[in-house]
Amino acid sequence: MPPAARTPSRQKPPARSGAAAAARAPRRNGARPPKLLTIEQKWATYERALILTAHPDDAEFLAGGTIARMCALGWEVTICVATSGDKGTRDPEMRPQELAAIREAEQRAAAAVLGLRECIFLGYPDGFLLETPELRGQVVALIRRLKPDVIVSWDGYRPGFNHHDHRVIGRIVRDALYPAAHDPLYFPEHRGEGMLAHRTAELLLAGTDEPDFHVDIEPYLETKVDAILCHSSQIDGRSREEMLKAWREAAKRDKGRRKRTGYRFAESFKRIEMRRPAPPEATATTAAPAGATVPAAAAAPRTGAPGVEREAPRKETTVRAAIGEPTG
Ligand SMILES: [Zn+2]
Repeated sequence: MPPAARTPSRQKPPARSGAAAAARAPRRNGARPPKLLTIEQKWATYERALILTAHPDDAEFLAGGTIARMCALGWEVTICVATSGDKGTRDPEMRPQELAAIREAEQRAAAAVLGLRECIFLGYPDGFLLETPELRGQVVALIRRLKPDVIVSWDGYRPGFNHHDHRVIGRIVRDALYPAAHDPLYFPEHRGEGMLAHRTAELLLAGTDEPDFHVDIEPYLETKVDAILCHSSQIDGRSREEMLKAWREAAKRDKGRRKRTGYRFAESFKRIEMRRPAPPEATATTAAPAGATVPAAAAAPRTGAPGVEREAPRKETTVRAAIGEPTG
């Protein structure tokens, strides 16, 4: 039996953080050059995330704490799972359709624990996910319908050993994001269905060998474990206590973890930025660049952002950054 679902708070904190207030403070023209928003200020402007994985349980193991944090910030978070994990068993007598039904139910229970809005299953066969125009079009349609600010998926280009389906979904997501989702001549039939071009702000690649972005999940560690425990068919009977003890002991043993990530418990990603919220000075006088979709909220960041860590103005691929404890 999965544990009782905990209900994360979806209320937005009442007071604006210093970071968010600083980001929207008006300045006199010409007084100072436009200030780059920190990642945490950007996260305070976001409202939606889309998690795209290959199998039920991928999201919880890879990013359960980060997803719980997004939900606590008040974001609407949706998960889409490409297969239903119908081969994820050592029991030769298990029927694939039965296993798929079990694993979809487990994924729905885990989603409720984390506070997700919706679970979508594409129903592809486990182990045989292919990079097809059809799958890319389905992902583009999801992006255009849900309009996420942040997408989380696998790093499909990680060298070395990885599951076939993890590689495929990671590559499909990249190709769907750029350029298909925000160039209207890709999948033009979406337009007739009211799904217009959309530019996602950030892609977070999980399971990467090159992490440059770390999220503090200590406040959400137990929520993450509760979500993982919902996947009863995949955890070999491990208990909540055993899992928490193992993670805490591993954190103690790994002396370099805090140095590498800044936190005792972190989930790490490679972060790729594709849409920058306009700096507050620019929103007053400058139109959005052609093709860009700058949300109205970008001019007035919401609260709930953690303490500021300044994003250095350098190449995105080399940014080392972190999202820490929320102030709200
Ligand atoms: Zn998987």
